Amino acid sequence: MVNLDKYSSIFIANWKLNGNSSFLKDYYEKLKVNSNNCTVICSPSVYLKSLKRNNENLFCGAQDVSAYKEGAYTGELSASMLKDNNIDFCLVGHSERRQYFSETNDNVNIKSSNLIEENIIPVICIGETLEQKENNLTEETLSSQIKDSVPNSAIHLNALIAYEPVWAIGTGLTPTLDEINQVHDLIKNFDTKFRSFKVLYGGSVKSSNSKEITELSQVDGCLIGGASLNVDEFNTIIS
Ligand code: PEP
Repeated sequence: MVNLDKYSSIFIANWKLNGNSSFLKDYYEKLKVNSNNCTVICSPSVYLKSLKRNNENLFCGAQDVSAYKEGAYTGELSASMLKDNNIDFCLVGHSERRQYFSETNDNVNIKSSNLIEENIIPVICIGETLEQKENNLTEETLSSQIKDSVPNSAIHLNALIAYEPVWAIGTGLTPTLDEINQVHDLIKNFDTKFRSFKVLYGGSVKSSNSKEITELSQVDGCLIGGASLNVDEFNTIIS
């Protein structure tokens, strides 16, 4: 399992449903991994094996995993299959999966637990919608997502939490720096067990705001969607 304690910052690229062979070739030729940080590329699963792991701080991440371990579940990929293919990280409970694929906290909990059993680090995504934020339900929402989707087996060494306000994903909007730091502080104080967890921020991170976000005291790195598709932009973010 990747030694998370070794890194002060972790940057995860979430390519979502984007990319093809020529995009990958160009991207991996230009990618410049900064050896002080942990960099993870979550490409679509058919391209996971294309990542040239030519730097010990560059890792492969999946965007999802099956809640099932094996059997008659057409189209699924299990945690042990990911491990068998040297995948070290896996996003779980991304808001797009919760929204478009009916993923529940219970699914996220089972998937995360299966990943931990295989020594793969689940990146457990949580975040409030705009409506929840406007109704002052951020704390309540995050608290129940954490309680129900983080498995008992998760500790700061084998799991990551990503705070991704749903209203900030792909919109160009971000919370203020104070808000980000406060919410991360809240997450780390939900329970003593979370104090040492690394918590990443995600939602419209780009090269122009990544430095100030990453420098916040309670932020341990970023999960980057749209901006990670531009390799020059991503190189600047991780530099
Ligand atoms: C994401 O998909 O996890 C994400 C943070 O997207 P974006 O950076 O495009 O807001």
